[in-house]
Amino acid sequence: MNYREDFNTNKLTHLTGTLCKAMDIPAPKHSEGVLDDLYEYIMQNTSNAPLDRVLMYNPDAIGEWTYLKYQDKFDKVKKYAPYEEKLLTVFPPKTPVCFGSMYTGASPEIHGIQSYTKPVIKIDSIFDALIRSGKKPCIVAVKNSSMARIFNERDMDYYIEDYDNEVIARTLKIIKEDKYDFIAVYNQEFDDVMHRSHPNSKRSQKAIDHYSASMEMLGSAIEEHWQNHNSLIGYAPDHGTHREWYLLGQHGKNIPMDMNISHFYGVMKKAEK
Ligand SMILES: [Zn+2]
Repeated sequence: MNYREDFNTNKLTHLTGTLCKAMDIPAPKHSEGVLDDLYEYIMQNTSNAPLDRVLMYNPDAIGEWTYLKYQDKFDKVKKYAPYEEKLLTVFPPKTPVCFGSMYTGASPEIHGIQSYTKPVIKIDSIFDALIRSGKKPCIVAVKNSSMARIFNERDMDYYIEDYDNEVIARTLKIIKEDKYDFIAVYNQEFDDVMHRSHPNSKRSQKAIDHYSASMEMLGSAIEEHWQNHNSLIGYAPDHGTHREWYLLGQHGKNIPMDMNISHFYGVMKKAEK
């Protein structure tokens, strides 16, 4: 198999701190740290100016091993987001647990979701930090998904759509409107189909392609409509997957296939006047 046996050392809980530092706003209260290499990469590409637009594309369940096995499917991702950040997600690697940590910068013990449940997270999050700093975040997510629920009850906009294609269509529209500083975009097809089949099934491979095509559309829209901003685009999955004994795909174990993820980031610099 084409995947690693050891665990990544950079932590997903350091992402929120990195994004806040790059936007030059104070991080949420329980944020654990900063990914120095990613921060440096962003600053090099904005000539040290803070980011004023961030789009986080969150494709569910793409582990690092899936990227390594299907690298040719990621050309459209790397076209706009060439910087790879290898990360260790949090345990248990379940969707609401991981997104809870991705956007609070805190461990599951601190944000409170430690199993597959979707309560509203009460602790400080990147969305609260953005609002406090006078910025406008929004979430675009599939109905009933974790991302459609766990960061609710903030004074911000939520666009809840039927499925992945509607989420992308909505996001393309709001990128064009250029009114949000931070957009989190959630898609779930790969997770859905790999649970019904396995992570290397034909339908799962198609779902990887769909995520990549969506990422390319989002990148192209940012390139066209956010020229007056220093923008970051991220391809940021929550956890990986595995298959046991030829059964269905699953995730939730403390193993590299479930815990190691690869994020991809790219900067589009403000156009020179
Ligand atoms: Zn997930």
